[in-house]
Amino acid sequence: MTRFKALSIQCGVPLGLVVVALVLMLIGPGSAQAGDERPAVITEREKVLSAQFEKELVEVTERVHVAVGYGASNSVLIEGDDGVIIVDTMYGTEEAEHVRTAFEKITTKPVQAIVLTHSHSDHIGGTAVFARGFNPDIYARRVMGASSTKHDPLSEILALRAKRQFGSQLPPKEKIAGIAPVERPQGGIGAGKLAPTHEVSGAKEKLSVNGVEIELVAAPGETVDHLMVWLPNRRVLVCGDNFYYSFPNLYAIRGTPYRDVLRWIRALDLMIDLNPEHLISGHARPISGEAIVRQTLTRYRDAIEQVFVQTLRGANQGLTPDELAASIDLPKSIADEPYLQEYYGVIPWSVRSIYGGYLGWFDGNPTSLFPLSPREEAERIVRLVGSKQELTKAAQRAVAEGDYQWACQLVDHLLALDSDSLTLNAIKADALRELALQQTSSNARHYYLSVARELDESP
Ligand SMILES: [Zn+2]
Repeated sequence: MTRFKALSIQCGVPLGLVVVALVLMLIGPGSAQAGDERPAVITEREKVLSAQFEKELVEVTERVHVAVGYGASNSVLIEGDDGVIIVDTMYGTEEAEHVRTAFEKITTKPVQAIVLTHSHSDHIGGTAVFARGFNPDIYARRVMGASSTKHDPLSEILALRAKRQFGSQLPPKEKIAGIAPVERPQGGIGAGKLAPTHEVSGAKEKLSVNGVEIELVAAPGETVDHLMVWLPNRRVLVCGDNFYYSFPNLYAIRGTPYRDVLRWIRALDLMIDLNPEHLISGHARPISGEAIVRQTLTRYRDAIEQVFVQTLRGANQGLTPDELAASIDLPKSIADEPYLQEYYGVIPWSVRSIYGGYLGWFDGNPTSLFPLSPREEAERIVRLVGSKQELTKAAQRAVAEGDYQWACQLVDHLLALDSDSLTLNAIKADALRELALQQTSSNARHYYLSVARELDESP
């Protein structure tokens, strides 16, 4: 796998561990970990993903095309006798205009139906562009947007964390592709949303649109409102974000309610059972060939199941989320598959999410029941070390030695006592920038870099 085990150590470890590590560090510099190499996986990921997002209108099979690399997600054109069906409408109106223009080079038949695979903004923001002049039926699940947190009292923190996860404030050169290309049209994001005119409430709905037999299949996976499009005669499956070219984002650090991992596994079972010849994902390039599609979906499913099963097994043995997150990995047989690398989702975060989804926040250790507040713990650590100055030097030394996670954990104690210190914020920002460079996950990298910028700019 591409993740770095050394980076899996998380903040919030029990005080005992902190003390032991602190003492080890004070004994000598030998305990520091070298974190400043630039592994080949970082450059390899860029190569793999730039190929995935190369802009192209791909003919998947006769009368089925997908626009890849035009923007944040894919849009699909299914051609019928006298009209067309569009599946997903991009993130914004500018992206959608480019795709519409490209589709019109294939056919100018009217758009008779639009299917929205799920409510994430990057799949529905350009609907009005495709609908313009045609008044098509718009299909989506009845539960579309059910897990939306747009109007709830968490809107401010969700917006801030989303901005960090997606690196919205970062210059493009600092960003890396996750499940979408970095450079893409930014005009009219979300401006073309239209409400569905037809809600799919059952498990499956069969339609005949302009000579095209379509099955709309409910497949809650990445989101509860997922709707897949199955063309039984052409054996084409459009699966939304239940598959993309990365280990799946079983937990989003922008903040989401528990993503039911078992549900996602069932969605993949459903996809495998359809036995598609062609798989069109919401983000990756299409995959064609019954055997390779089956193998890909099965391995994707197995990867999720492995993480799920290992987490529950370990939890059942009394292991804590910290211990599980630091130890669970994919089996060797599937770990090297390019579509299972942690380009977007990350295994340790998934493990923590699954643990919390089933057992809640408590790790089982009574020490965690009523822990010291960060400030109280920091005061004791400072006393143990001798002074704030000594602890600051230790944090600076950790940065110099490339032990960036440790530097963050040390400086967090000091920041708990003095959050306005320019020196401390600068130490943390430096460590975060270095950690960012080692991440294969765009979400991790962008979060680190965004917070580093915030610290730079803090008064
Ligand atoms: Zn998506």
